[in-house]
Amino acid sequence: MKETSNILTDSFKRKHTYLRISLIERCNLKCTYCMPEEGIPLSPRNHLMSYEEIYTIAKTFVKHGVTKIRLTGGEPLIRKDIHVILKKLSSLGVELSITTNAVLVHKYIDALKDSGIKSINVSLDTLNREKFSQITRRNEFERVYQNILLLIREGFQVKINSVLIKDFNEDEIIDFIELTKKHPITIRFIEFMPFNGNKWDMSKLVSYAQVIDRVHAKYSKEPIQRLQDAPNDTSKNYKVMGYQGSFSVISSVTNPFCDSCNRIRLTANGRLKNCLFSDGEEDLLTPLRNGKEIEPMIYKLIQGKKKIRNGMETIESFQEPESHNQNRSMIAIGG
Ligand code: SAM
Ligand code: SF4
Repeated sequence: MKETSNILTDSFKRKHTYLRISLIERCNLKCTYCMPEEGIPLSPRNHLMSYEEIYTIAKTFVKHGVTKIRLTGGEPLIRKDIHVILKKLSSLGVELSITTNAVLVHKYIDALKDSGIKSINVSLDTLNREKFSQITRRNEFERVYQNILLLIREGFQVKINSVLIKDFNEDEIIDFIELTKKHPITIRFIEFMPFNGNKWDMSKLVSYAQVIDRVHAKYSKEPIQRLQDAPNDTSKNYKVMGYQGSFSVISSVTNPFCDSCNRIRLTANGRLKNCLFSDGEEDLLTPLRNGKEIEPMIYKLIQGKKKIRNGMETIESFQEPESHNQNRSMIAIGG
């Protein structure tokens, strides 16, 4: 039986069984909601975790009860040693998955399959080529769209992450849902969240309630099915009856799901974060390099986890810039 311990259980009795590892701070796209135009200060190369260090830290988490690992970034597929990372982590016997912008997916189909990855999350915020270039500051729409179709053909379970922004892509909600008519994919609409440098304000938010209003306005005749959410699910899941796929809303702003949070995040420079919205971090990489145990740092950070969104309990507190402008940009956290 797997050794378990309570170093991953916080003071609200939440068990952290899901580790998200950011592999890199850089990206081949430059999404406006994720990073500032001028970029972010990058960690010196030797401050980033090597593949051996990623493996060692991940193994420690698995020893204490982590059962699921997601690779993210920045763009995880631009790491030169991604093949080795996939191979090493696949030996840990956990559910391994990845979040990617899909620009390079066609080069990694075999490596992804060999690592046992079944489910892949791909970011796509618009189905319009020009709008894609506007939001990502790069002209890669065709490649990304073709790679999504490739992943579907290759039998991966594909979830599309779409960050909704008022007056930008809310008019595409139904177009995205219509993709689920013939494709067995899940479209996940994500409420736009505030991070350092992403010019967030409440007026740009498209809320869970607004998404569902649009859905009901369009599909008043066809029945919309509310699906059972999985335990620890961050999304509220739905389906248009008769369609192959489903859709969901991730409502981190208007309906936080912190009660059942089982996530912990490791940044590419080896810092542990107990919450997406937390500016507090615990350095695991330095003690690891100094030959020290990392469990005490993990325990300390998990114990310090707050009940809801690092203390931003209300919608009003979300609107105070000082509550989130000390946090990293999303690109350096790993969403
Ligand atoms: N490059 C990969 C990608 O785009 O899928 C992985 C990293 S990206 C930071 C992970 C996820 O974070 C993406 O699905 C992206 O849409 C989401 N994300 C980034 N900034 C966000 C924000 N301000 N609000 C909500 N989601 C955000
Ligand atoms: Fe890159 Fe993903 Fe951030 Fe877009 S959302 S800039 S693809 S890390």
